[in-house]
Amino acid sequence: MQGLMMNLPLQVIEILKYAAETHTSAEIVSVRTEGDIHRESYAQAYARAAQLAHGLAGIGVGQGDRVATLAWNGYRHFELYYAISGMGAVCHTINPRLSAEQMLYIIGHAEDKVLCLDLTFVPIIEALAEHLPQDLKLVLLTDRQHMPSSDIPFLCYEELLEGQPTTYEWPLLPEDSACGLCYTSGTTGHPKGALYSHRSTVLHAFFISITLPLSLHADSRILPVVPMFHVNSWGLPYAAPLVGASLIMPGPKLDGPSLFDLMQDEKVTASWGVPTVWLGLRAEMEARGTPPADLRQVVIGGSAAPRAMIEFFEGQGVDVCHAWGMTEMSPVGTHGQLPGPMKSLPQDAQITAKAKQGRRVFGVDLKIVDEAGTRLPHDGTAVGELYVRGNGIISGYFNNQEATEQALDAEGWFGTGDVASIDPDGFLTIQDRSKDLIKSGGEWISSIDLENIAMAHPKVANCAVIAIAHPKWDERPLLVVVPAGEDKPELDDIHAMMLEHVAKWQLPDAMVFVDELPLTATGKVSKLRLRQQFAEYTLPDVG
Ligand code: ADP
Repeated sequence: MQGLMMNLPLQVIEILKYAAETHTSAEIVSVRTEGDIHRESYAQAYARAAQLAHGLAGIGVGQGDRVATLAWNGYRHFELYYAISGMGAVCHTINPRLSAEQMLYIIGHAEDKVLCLDLTFVPIIEALAEHLPQDLKLVLLTDRQHMPSSDIPFLCYEELLEGQPTTYEWPLLPEDSACGLCYTSGTTGHPKGALYSHRSTVLHAFFISITLPLSLHADSRILPVVPMFHVNSWGLPYAAPLVGASLIMPGPKLDGPSLFDLMQDEKVTASWGVPTVWLGLRAEMEARGTPPADLRQVVIGGSAAPRAMIEFFEGQGVDVCHAWGMTEMSPVGTHGQLPGPMKSLPQDAQITAKAKQGRRVFGVDLKIVDEAGTRLPHDGTAVGELYVRGNGIISGYFNNQEATEQALDAEGWFGTGDVASIDPDGFLTIQDRSKDLIKSGGEWISSIDLENIAMAHPKVANCAVIAIAHPKWDERPLLVVVPAGEDKPELDDIHAMMLEHVAKWQLPDAMVFVDELPLTATGKVSKLRLRQQFAEYTLPDVG
């Protein structure tokens, strides 16, 4: 048809160009690994991204090449995101908490040409040096003064930029070309790559910006605790410049006191992260008897936000938005922002709604199916395997035919591996990851439900519920608790709390205490390692 709109491809670099030209008062504040605080505007970041693109081209990076990063949240990492994608290469973020074996695997699998790393990670790379590809170029994200003495011929980031032009002829790329690559944490088997396109990345930034307006607006100052190596910091490095929000980058210090101080000093209004980090901030807020002065919203995702945590933050006047998503989904799939009428419900009912994983964002379709693949109703009762489809969802894994074949169903929807229900208002409730569900006497028990209740006990600092093999019932739940202090909780008390919400046969058979719970590379409780830890555990005979 003639006379249609111009067909300009969506490009990641356009976001930063837009922010540089229009959001001139917003800034990126970074806690640097060198120890000080650094500030720059989006215009400065845009100019430096141009210099960096010249520098990367100078060391041989071309279109389609993978450039890896091993870095905390900071301005140089941000510049890398845009320079790499802008020049048509692919920004491959590596999670430093992966094992050496997994890291080597993904560097090889991605065929990375360059690896850019923060000073903190020099020891990791020195230890791996002899196993790294011979022609992999290594760039240290620092200036000349801070270059360490090392046997490895590191290049210096600031030297790559020095003297380069502050503009770059950004190529017009097809919007379905790749801009980013992130591997799942590989709790089972090798990590698998999700390859993001310019189109999916720009659209995802739009989707979350219209969905989470309390966090994403021009006056907001957002602190992404979620790392830039964990699904692009859930899209914040794209959405923040799009709407003109400032980014407060915490660098390596993610403990409660450091986060509190940074939030206070930098007037942070919103912060996003996994539940484990909020345990630390919560303890600090309790110790100081106040929330950080300007904090208005925390977005909690990555694993289920315990009800007690939501209650605490809301009680301090901080809005909690519970979100659900996956690496394979860019990642945000649902958000817990309540619609108007629900905001006038009693506080308790609001918390109940917020403890659900929320409604889908635009661009994400949800369906639940039974074992035969038949769709189940969205009636809030039917529970099934959750499948998704949308603009920011992988159509297969990066260069991995085998995993791709298992990823999609006959209709081309992606299987999340989660088991869920969806209510008539569109609220998703994740019951469990299918591999974490506890199968007892042919019935399912949701570990998330039980954890949620136990977390509300004042003597429980953290907890997890796992399946233990049982001769009669197949599996029974074991409650693993990190006590809050010397005075440990009683199982009977926790049972009494649980009985208000679940049936008697669903109660954990036993409780054990540990000093800490094992975490995955993305900071979530590792049920896999916990099951291994308690593989030999025998449950008491409770009939
Ligand atoms: P990994 O942890 O394996 O790297 P992701 O970070 O992509 O992978 O995790 C995705 C999974 O995390 C989801 O499939 C789901 O099981 C879990 N998850 C994410 N957000 C939530 C949430 N709000 N509630 C419960 N589970 C969640």
